[in-house]
Amino acid sequence: MATKTEPSFRESVDLMFNRAVALMDLPPGLEEKIRVCNATYMVRFGVRLRGRIQTFTGYRSVHSEHMEPVKGGIRYAMGVNQDEVEALAALMTYKCALVEAPFGGSKGGLCIDPRDYDEFELEMITRRFAYELAKRDLISPSQNVPAPDMGTGEREMAWIADQYARMNTTDINARACVTGKPIGAGGIAGRVEATGRGVQYALQEFFRHPEDVEKAGLSGSLEGKRIIVQGLGNVGYHAAKFLSEEDGARIIGIIERDGALIDDNGLDVEAVHQWIGKHGGIAGFPEVLHVAEGASALEHDCDILIPAALEGVIHMGNAAAIRAPLIIEAANGPVTAGADEILREKGTVIIPDMYANAGGVTVSYFEWVKNLGHIRFGRMQRRQEEKRHQLVLDELERLDRYLGDAWSLSADFKEKYLRGADELELVRSGLDDTMREAYQSMHEVWNAREDVHDLRVAAYLVAIDRVAKSYRAKGL
Ligand code: NAD
Repeated sequence: MATKTEPSFRESVDLMFNRAVALMDLPPGLEEKIRVCNATYMVRFGVRLRGRIQTFTGYRSVHSEHMEPVKGGIRYAMGVNQDEVEALAALMTYKCALVEAPFGGSKGGLCIDPRDYDEFELEMITRRFAYELAKRDLISPSQNVPAPDMGTGEREMAWIADQYARMNTTDINARACVTGKPIGAGGIAGRVEATGRGVQYALQEFFRHPEDVEKAGLSGSLEGKRIIVQGLGNVGYHAAKFLSEEDGARIIGIIERDGALIDDNGLDVEAVHQWIGKHGGIAGFPEVLHVAEGASALEHDCDILIPAALEGVIHMGNAAAIRAPLIIEAANGPVTAGADEILREKGTVIIPDMYANAGGVTVSYFEWVKNLGHIRFGRMQRRQEEKRHQLVLDELERLDRYLGDAWSLSADFKEKYLRGADELELVRSGLDDTMREAYQSMHEVWNAREDVHDLRVAAYLVAIDRVAKSYRAKGL
């Protein structure tokens, strides 16, 4: 964790913001308007559990309403506090601007360790929290749309959606009040994997730019790259799985709450994930080196470090010892402002959180649009697309017959070409496009401006400029 001399999470975000704003020419006062959090609501509510009333503390912070609804996850963790939700809400504003999701930034949290409660209790707590937020328009399809974050997932989002619908029985768009729902409750294909998938797409795009790869002292592609992941939860698991199974990267380290697993030959991500599901941690995972002090593995030699658990894990106390030349911030705020400075001086390339983990909000945006449209993506086009492809295929088959042995269709061409895109393919395509476009906007600033030395400042410059334009257009 961060040492005492280090700024808080929110101060860290503000310091990074200030570094970028110093390179901009904003009208007086606008900088402050963008930086500060508009409002933070704190609620204490009681739920009768195990024969007594238990009091819980929750937050919902709205950072910027330059676009509405505002958007951001709800986190269940013991460490939730005002500083943290405000930092996360600010990051949401910049993240949405960077990936052009038409939302302002928000975030929520509940001080609770979900492992201390059974499913029924969690449902009671979640529904009561949702009630407290919804009655103040802090959950609403047109004003504030939460999503999953640490400690929450599809199940909690389904309870929130249902609670909102019970309170707003005639709202035809009620389902759009929250994203990250299960498919059967108005969710979208590909949302669960979205943030991890986005991390994969972000790295793929990074490796499409050899000049950027070179800045990290690396070369080639993702194939064979040695990766260490911290946190094998929703984000870390999917990122590690896709990078190892689809891109040929080697996951040589997995850091969890109860230590780290290290295997330079590469770990079986799926097997470790299943082990955690069964045993609650990585301890006892067979035939692999187990390091008791998990955080020390952040300093292990590797090509790419993916912190995907929580904030402040790379701080002034360990930054100098980090050996990875490339860090991709899958978690929000894993590198403190102090550590960021040390790493930049060392030449470490950091792909910043506001971009790296934007896959979640991007697919949440698709889900929200789907809910408002009341139709699954691809439902109108899919079969028509297949019919048109059949026309081309008929012609190609005619040519195939005509040319005889001289040429023939490849074995799986027919099957691949004939299939119209379903919702999952469309979602992945939209996510890939978003991650590529957003990377390119940062890349341009990073490479074109002599006063910009890192991707984080580039990301802030792009995001703040877009938010500023939106405020200016409104005459603020
Ligand atoms: P999660 O609860 O699914 O997973 C977190 C994982 O980290 C768990 O496996 C947990 O055991 C592990 N962990 C917790 N403390 C740890 C520690 N001290 N050391 C090592 N491992 C530890 O959460 P998630 O949804 O995957 O979120 C992880 C990060 O990604 C958070 O910073 C979150 O804000 C960010 N994020 C999540 C999403 C999303 O869609 N879920 C979107 C954007 C950003």
